[in-house]
Amino acid sequence: MSPAPQPIISRHVAVIGAGASGLVTARELRREGHSVVVFERGDQVGGTWVYNPKTESDSMGLNPERNTIHSSLYRSLRTNLPRECMGFSDYPFVAKDGPDRDPRRFPSHREVLMYLQDFTREFEIDELVRFETVIVRVRLVESLKWEIKSKTSGKDETIGHVVDEIFDAVVVCSGHYTQPRIAQIPGINEWPGKQMHSHNYRVPANALFEIKYVPDSTYSKIIESEVKKVAVLIGSSESAFDISLEVARVAKEVHIAARTVADETFGKQPVYDNMWLHPMIESVREDGTVFFQDGSFVLPDIILHCTGYEYHFPFLETNGIVTVDDNRVGPLYKHIFPPALAPWLSFVGLAWKAIPFPLCELQSKWIAGVLSNRFTLPSQEEMMEDVEAFYSSLEASGTPKRYTHCMGANLVVYTNWLQGQCGCPANEEWRIQMCLATFKSRLARPESYRDEWEDQQLILQAHEDFIKLTS
Ligand code: FAD
Repeated sequence: MSPAPQPIISRHVAVIGAGASGLVTARELRREGHSVVVFERGDQVGGTWVYNPKTESDSMGLNPERNTIHSSLYRSLRTNLPRECMGFSDYPFVAKDGPDRDPRRFPSHREVLMYLQDFTREFEIDELVRFETVIVRVRLVESLKWEIKSKTSGKDETIGHVVDEIFDAVVVCSGHYTQPRIAQIPGINEWPGKQMHSHNYRVPANALFEIKYVPDSTYSKIIESEVKKVAVLIGSSESAFDISLEVARVAKEVHIAARTVADETFGKQPVYDNMWLHPMIESVREDGTVFFQDGSFVLPDIILHCTGYEYHFPFLETNGIVTVDDNRVGPLYKHIFPPALAPWLSFVGLAWKAIPFPLCELQSKWIAGVLSNRFTLPSQEEMMEDVEAFYSSLEASGTPKRYTHCMGANLVVYTNWLQGQCGCPANEEWRIQMCLATFKSRLARPESYRDEWEDQQLILQAHEDFIKLTS
């Protein structure tokens, strides 16, 4: 005999963060009948997509005493996924008319922010959000409830007002592109030049020169008037690529040190007069020299670290149940639930090399349904076995721990699995195909893939689906 179905229950749930993942999580939780409070440190929704021209007091973003700026966007950033792929499944990211709108298929960051603002308005999520309220502590208290300590940071009389509240469940949607991750380089602490992490890169001028805040009007004047510099840029991600091209337009030389690049591509880069690709940095010296692993060396003015980010949850106290070890947040069942605390603590949006918005939507649907008892989790032991089997498979395939939450080729299987759990229709085939087509075209035409494409047929299929949704 199968067990009697559990009654559907409404929970009091705290969501940390009002970026893309917090917004969609709030919507899914409310749709499921839960009462929701979203805590947001900033004064508006959008998270990463709220561009901030200012930078942190520590350009490497490592000093814990620095002023923290959440977003890592640079001014010229355009999306690396086409808008059809990026949007939530039932709220397509289609071009809209209006002042400040950017109808391009790979739009600027501001257009993504406007899409998230539209989404917030459409689903009336604003009313759930407490802005300028930072979560300073999330602590497990007796009977598996969570005590949340929050502090207001706004400009009114409630500044510094600290509140403790009890919630049934907490969903962490705080993002993971704020805390820089740095490559270990012998001699780096004594290296005399300027160093910056891409988190604090906004425009070439703020990287190459001592300019912390570049208002738009003075930007071109600064670039034209400054002496040319030599830059070394570490990294091979999409941001590293965008930034290297942009810096190369104004620097004397750009030397890219990359770990994951084929040997035959090293050396002076075709097409560019002033760009070289090298293997990783071997060491740096007090006299300013930077040595690469192939023995070549340069004497740069700046090292730009485009080396990614660390998961960082300074507010979370779980008595050691959840840890971050070499960028693995664990143990987590399906990148979401720590088995010992499930379903009362969960994480949305940890995955990378993914299609973030629709994936967060699915993760949050599953969390909402599990919290209400509509979906059932395996036992704690079964979840732990699954996590251990997953970690063993990563180890067996030689995948470093820090790639635990990297989806890549596993995205389809993971997405299908979540859809199965939530009883949702399978992912639109065009979405995956479009992602693959974009990936290929980015490799073939890295500078122009955002303006030239060949997947017209997939765009038509996407729009057929969008029309069904909106009619
Ligand atoms: P975030 O957007 O980071 O939001 C987290 C929110 O939590 C923030 O608002 C923050 O203020 C809040 N918060 C954090 N800590 C606290 C606290 N203690 N108390 C209260 N509030 C807190 N994705 C794409 O789909 N397409 C792209 O083209 C693309 N390009 C990208 C380019 C760059 C440079 C970066 C960094 C990311 C890019 N992404 C892209 C990924 C992007 O981060 C995700 O799409 C998505 O926006 C992540 O949303 P999130 O809500 O998980 O995190």
